[in-house]
Formats: sequence, C-alpha cells, structure tokens
Amino acid sequence: EHLAAIDAREPELHAFNLVTADEARATADAVDAARAAGHDLGPLAGVPVALKDNLCTRGVPTTCSSRILDGWRPPYDATVVERLAAAGAVVVGKTNLDEFAMGSSTENSAFGPTRNPHDPSRVPGGSSGGSAAAVAAGFAPLSLGSDTGGSIRQPAALCGVVGVKPTYGTVSRYGLVAFASSLDQIGPFATTVEDAALLLEVIGGHDPLDSTSIPQPVGDLRGQLGRGVEGLRVGVVRELTGEGIAPDVARRVREAADALAAAGAHVTESSVPAAVYGLSAYYLIAPAEASSNLARYDGVRYGLRVDAGNTPDMNEATRTEGFGDEVKRRIMLGTYALSAGYYDAYYGKAQRVRTLIIRDFAAAYEDVDVLLSPTSPTTAFAFGDKTADPLTMYLNDVCTIPSNLAGDPAVSVPFGTGDDGLPVGVQVMAPALQEGTMLRVAAALE
Ligand code: GLN
Repeated sequence: EHLAAIDAREPELHAFNLVTADEARATADAVDAARAAGHDLGPLAGVPVALKDNLCTRGVPTTCSSRILDGWRPPYDATVVERLAAAGAVVVGKTNLDEFAMGSSTENSAFGPTRNPHDPSRVPGGSSGGSAAAVAAGFAPLSLGSDTGGSIRQPAALCGVVGVKPTYGTVSRYGLVAFASSLDQIGPFATTVEDAALLLEVIGGHDPLDSTSIPQPVGDLRGQLGRGVEGLRVGVVRELTGEGIAPDVARRVREAADALAAAGAHVTESSVPAAVYGLSAYYLIAPAEASSNLARYDGVRYGLRVDAGNTPDMNEATRTEGFGDEVKRRIMLGTYALSAGYYDAYYGKAQRVRTLIIRDFAAAYEDVDVLLSPTSPTTAFAFGDKTADPLTMYLNDVCTIPSNLAGDPAVSVPFGTGDDGLPVGVQVMAPALQEGTMLRVAAALE
C-alpha cells in the first residue's frame, strides 16, 4: 500500500532521492516468512520506514543531496539503520534534504526541492523536508531525520506531523554524515506521539561506536503517555512567543497552553533570556564545525572527483563543482570564525553565549517541568520566498535552535492550522533525558 502511495504521488512531491522498492518487498517477504515460521518478530516487524539521505546505508547510495557524494555507496550501515533492521522495519527509501542538512526549506537540495503534501506550492520545511513529507503523504508511517538546529521539528510543524529531537547523546550518530557534531541528533517523524515514542525506543540507547553516546537505555517512553498532565508545570517561553511570530501561530500556542491548563497542568510564563541570542551563536558554531567536518570531501576519499592536473587544483575543482552555494557560504563563514585573528571575537564568544543559554534553561526548569513555544514562526511558506536573503531563512530557526545549543530534547506536535489552513506545530521542550514527561505533554495536545 505504501509503495502504491509512493507511485501515485512521489512524482509530484519528490520526497525521495531513492525509492528502494525491490529491497523493501524482499524485506517484507522475509518478515512474512519469519512470522509464518513462528519466529519472534521485532517491534517494527513489517513497518515501512523512510530514511533521511544523510544516514549511511550499506551498498545503497547516500548523497546528502549533494553532488560531491556522486556515486558513493557507504561500506557500512548507520547504527540506527542496524537497529531498524533488527526490529524488523522495512526501509522504503532515502529522503531528500537540504544539501548536508543546511537549510530550512529543502530548496538547497542539489536534486531539486520537495513539495509540501498539504499544498504543493509551499515548502515542506527543512532540512529533513523529504522525511516529513513522506510521513505526511502516507509514503511511510515512520521516518528518520536529523536535527542540528530544528531540521526535524520545523518540517514536522510545516507538514503537520510529529517530530522529535532527542537529548544529545540519546541516539547514536554513528553513520550520520556529520554537519555540526556538537548539535546533530537523529530523531523520529510519525503521525502520532505514540508512534514517535516507539521509534525512539528502537533507535535510542548506548552505542560504543559514538563516543558522545549516553551509556544508558532510553527506557519505556510509551508507558508514560496515557498519564495526562495533571499537576505538571508548563512554562510558556516569553522570548519565543512575541515579536517575529505570526499572529495565527501565536494564537495556537496560547490555545495549546489553555488546553493543558484545562487538563490540569499549572501553566505559567517562563523566561529564557539568552534564547534570543541562540540564532547568532548557532550561525557561528554550526558553520565552524561544518567547515571542519566538510574538509574531508577532497575528491580523493568520497564520490565526485574533477580532474585538474595536480592534486591541489583537483581538490579545488572538485569542491567548486561538488558543493552548492549554501554549503560554500557555511564553509566560508566557519573558516572565517575559526581563523586566528577572529577566534575569540566570534567562535569563543558564541561558545560563551551557548553556556548562558544552558544556564537560562536550567534556571527555567527549576520552576517548570516543560517549556512551550511555537516550533516555527510561520506556517509553510512559498518556494522562493526566503531564498534571496539567507538571513530571512535563518530566522526560521529562532524557536528550535536553543534546544540544540542546550542539548535538551524537544518535540513538535501538530496543533490546528493557521489562517491559511496549513498546519501549525507547537513545541514542547524538556530538560535533558526527560523525554518521557515531554512526550506525555505532547500526547495531551493531540
Ligand atoms: N535550518 C538550520 C540550518 O540551516 C538547521 C538545520 C538542521 O537542523 N540540520 O542550519
């Protein structure tokens, strides 16, 4: 059924870089055979899952929607891919993204954008736009994305699905192509909070192959969901609900807060003063890390090589042709921010702001269990709306970036529509490792 849905609408939406229909059928048949033979089946047995195309899949092209990885097939599976296979999941394909996950609309893909299933004249958000659109269009009930500054939650909001960025270190990054290593986390998309919780249970937990992996299991998340929000303390973040947020989106966040109060939660206003500097700090730290991580694409080790006589010229020609404009912009920003004369003024200062944000969140969580905000300042915008000026695109991440800088978990859950009839997402944030409480609140908003 899911492959039929893909056949019907994928030509219009372009959620996938690659549909692995034959492999999916073979896996599904193997699951059926195991079931018939009475074998123990995993928790996702036979369930279709779509993978963001920056997750390594053994022998299957992994492009990051970049020309520079042309022809590259990873020799190994990401840990999350191995865990999905062990759980019996059926991978249906690799989804489109902004090149190397840099963007908020999927318009930075080298292979053309993905369209929003709710309105194909609008973007699906990004960078995991393909994964969000795949679930919203019914191409798969589950998908995986990666979230460095909002790339799971923002497209989830714009496509009307649930998207979770787990606590940093909860899900192994082994086999996730690195963008900004201190911020990147893999997480689930689903149509319900319960499905997202199940997928997180399957992919999460310690992995010795990732040195930043937290050495403890994620535990039973689904068990927390039915418990309601009676007595929980919810803080609406003042700094993320005022200026710059579209009125129809702000109204939905107020309604969500009211709904939680009606369900027995104590709702107050909270302040995270340094959150307003999150965007500035992020757009120094993330490009700095990216400029280092992307140095490996030299025309020797991976994918594309543009021959040009000697090696340095080959390196330059390969990178000139292989990377798109946004990736080049980030490499230049990051290299500049890390250079000797500017390191203290930019990178060093951004790291100090990051520490302030961590402290402000910790102070806010002394009084409340979870924080509430919009996920994105607006509903899905039109193609080309924000491509002329990179800063207007970056402003889209204002509500999502603080959680990445703090390493804390956050979820976007659909909550009604905007004046244009398109989905609005409400963000629930929680202290590190409090996914259970966070998802409990999200479930109360469904
Ligand atoms: N939109 C942000 C950026 O362009 C976040 C991307 C992400 O989370 N991968 O960097």
